[in-house]
Amino acid sequence: MALRPDEFHDHALTAADGERRLPLARMTGWDISPFEPDGLRVAPLRPPVLPEPPRHGEDPSDCDACRDRGEGIWFNDHWRLTRITGVGVPLVLMLYPLEHHDMADLPDELAAELGVLSAHIVRHVQGLPHISRAHVYRIGDGAAHLHIWFFARPEGQTQLRGSWLPVWDDLLPEYPAQAAEADAAVVADALVASVGGRRSATGASPRD
Ligand SMILES: [Zn+2]
Repeated sequence: MALRPDEFHDHALTAADGERRLPLARMTGWDISPFEPDGLRVAPLRPPVLPEPPRHGEDPSDCDACRDRGEGIWFNDHWRLTRITGVGVPLVLMLYPLEHHDMADLPDELAAELGVLSAHIVRHVQGLPHISRAHVYRIGDGAAHLHIWFFARPEGQTQLRGSWLPVWDDLLPEYPAQAAEADAAVVADALVASVGGRRSATGASPRD
């Protein structure tokens, strides 16, 4: 059984200093870390917050992902894909179920479709020129409606490999929107060709 919140907190503090700061270690020591250890310090560890504050959209009637279900670059009967704007890496896409589900309550049929769609999206993003990898993330701490992140890593920028990529993304200047929009369209068109669906929420699908 996992440690209780107070037990976990006490356990973490065994490694902290008098100001409850954990030592710099591991990831900040990697050569792909965006931060140099000199001058960097860890924030004091806060005590557990119980009950946890609600995430956005715990109530479907107040959920942005449900409200915006007509927005995206690709749709089928159960899913939609959007492009996230204002990012630093070449392309960030987000996949949502149209209906209000989190990952743990996703019906098996949709879970199976998620697997197939994820593989196709990764294939098409990695098929873009000058993109080496598509990272896939599901975190789920901010919003209750399932949303899967696809991050494109630029070719040759090996310092951006690995789990620091979202932090590098936040540090980089905004990527040219026109190039990202064109690449997103290539991915969406490839998705229509490989798994069906359509480019607009209401338009006809060539395979329907
Ligand atoms: Zn929702």
